Amino acid sequence: MTWGERHSRMAVESSEKPISKSTDVPALEGRDIRKSLPLGGSRIEILRGINLRVEHGEFVAVVGPSGSGKSTLLGIIAGLDTPTSGQVLIDGVDITRMGEGQLAQVRNAKIGMVYQAFNLIPTLTAQENVEVPLYVGKHSGRPADRAKELLTLVGLEHRLGNRPNQLSGGEQQRVAVARALAADPAIVIMDEPTGNLDQKNSENVLQMVRDLRDRTGKTFIIATHDPNVAAAADRSIRIVDGLVAD
Ligand code: ADP
Ligand code: MG
Repeated sequence: MTWGERHSRMAVESSEKPISKSTDVPALEGRDIRKSLPLGGSRIEILRGINLRVEHGEFVAVVGPSGSGKSTLLGIIAGLDTPTSGQVLIDGVDITRMGEGQLAQVRNAKIGMVYQAFNLIPTLTAQENVEVPLYVGKHSGRPADRAKELLTLVGLEHRLGNRPNQLSGGEQQRVAVARALAADPAIVIMDEPTGNLDQKNSENVLQMVRDLRDRTGKTFIIATHDPNVAAAADRSIRIVDGLVAD
């Protein structure tokens, strides 16, 4: 059964509501983002002045060759890494000037991150993995109920009690997506979400992302070298040698 088929038979509806924003403040804006790191006696320039703007509800693919700086850029716009210079604005607010406490709050409230290697906690069940972020911030309702609802949303209502090693790669990726959605973030950032999946699981995860975007109105920013993911996005931002290529 594909994710779409299972999903269409779901009884439980998500509490997510489509967001319609009538503001012209973008969901995310990057201004002249630069990142360099010391290497030997000199510095390696990874990002060399990235400008980008992503509107609320957009599904944007970040594409480019391996080593072009996609993961570095995603880490910076997610507030997990700091740029050497430049600004990252989330809903018009510059996160690069925030202290760690304030930044953690913004991250928890506004950004859901999905890593290529899933990064699930191996000793916890699917449901417990999704509950983890719900114990960090303030969230209404019981974490267990919210986790079940989210796992149903990604088509895993029959895998609540399974640990990661009892799940396929595609299923683990869907748990990671459910966890990223737990705190109801406006922006979901995914690094190569289909990079570790076979073709069938890739198609299922891609279908899930498109459907989630349509149902929730969230903003999706996805780094990928998978042409199918790029084709499914509203548009692509191509990174070459640390710069946006035209
Ligand atoms: P992509 O995700 O597009 O493959 P990355 O952002 O992972 O690219 O890496 C961009 C470049 O920066 C690569 O050449 C990589 O080797 C280098 N790089 C990334 N992180 C570090 C680091 N911590 N130290 C040194 N070089 C790094
Ligand atoms: Mg990468």
